[in-house]
Amino acid sequence: MRFTCFLFLALGLALSSAAQASPGALCVEQQLAAAKFDPGPVDGKIDDATKKAFASFAAKRGLRAKVPLHEFSAMSYCRQIGLKISRLKRQWPSRKGAFDFHVGKGVDRQVAKRIQSQLKKARPRMAKFFKLELPGRDKVVIGASAGVIGGLVEQHTEYPGRSIASVARRHCSNKGGIGAFVLPGLAVFCVQPGYRSKNENWQREIDFVTAHELVHLVQTQVAGTSAPGSSAAAKLERDGPVWLVEGFANAYAISGRTGISAAEGFLFSNSFYDGKRIPSLKTLEKRSALHSHYSDVYDAGTIAAIDLVGLKGAKSYGRYLDILATGASWQAAFKAAFGMTPEAFYKRFDRRYRS
Ligand SMILES: [Zn+2]
Repeated sequence: MRFTCFLFLALGLALSSAAQASPGALCVEQQLAAAKFDPGPVDGKIDDATKKAFASFAAKRGLRAKVPLHEFSAMSYCRQIGLKISRLKRQWPSRKGAFDFHVGKGVDRQVAKRIQSQLKKARPRMAKFFKLELPGRDKVVIGASAGVIGGLVEQHTEYPGRSIASVARRHCSNKGGIGAFVLPGLAVFCVQPGYRSKNENWQREIDFVTAHELVHLVQTQVAGTSAPGSSAAAKLERDGPVWLVEGFANAYAISGRTGISAAEGFLFSNSFYDGKRIPSLKTLEKRSALHSHYSDVYDAGTIAAIDLVGLKGAKSYGRYLDILATGASWQAAFKAAFGMTPEAFYKRFDRRYRS
């Protein structure tokens, strides 16, 4: 199944303006205020008072806050604060519902309906599967063109409409198709006119795309993402390798209903590569691999993710995200969650799938 999808981890894209409230920051402030750590004005903006209150909460409550508090780490900290003091979860945005949908004119109604119902159904199932409590209320924008998407984003989210429209243009480029991408707290779907009539398997494809994007949304809530404008090295360390990011999203989308089984790894390695040589995972770590090895990131990533689930179960992925959230490097999180270093896993992968 081919559709375009990326997790736009820290696009280098700052929020619209300092005036826009960040839902994660607002949640952090509300919880701090409820716990009697004065965060200054509760306005969804991270200022010195917010940072000071957060630092003193972290010190008193033993919350490891190695990652600075910024817009893209705030929802992760909203979650971590609530996990420390359970009554504070009352402030979690997810209490008002998991999604906030915005559908543009010209979108096929049945397709929009299916995207919404699938997301709503899949989210509790996924939370259970990965054993994660989710704090956020994600915004979902569905449009038929980049222009409409930009307008909806500008109107309903904290992101700048024009930059999102330029990203969306690529995802709207495959005629009569569907494309999607995720930023922290926001999923965007571009459904082009004629999509349903041109695709016999449109329902199955929607189910796949929504499950895939949901895995990305979960990552942004649980682990946060690197700060806007981070270097490539900092992005890799915070967000993890792209084969793992996209591989897990695909593996879940393929077999999330039934659970991912290790045997499927072999099945997919045959169907994706059919005797051709699979590249090493090491070459699929950096975001630049999305340009140089686009389909390998997804295909080899899926095989590897299924293999990892076979090793330690699906909840090991939830654990990986949980540890990433504490500011550990992805390698340290990987080892703690999957029981071996990335190097050892790469060797195992070479033996099983590349020899
Ligand atoms: Zn993706």
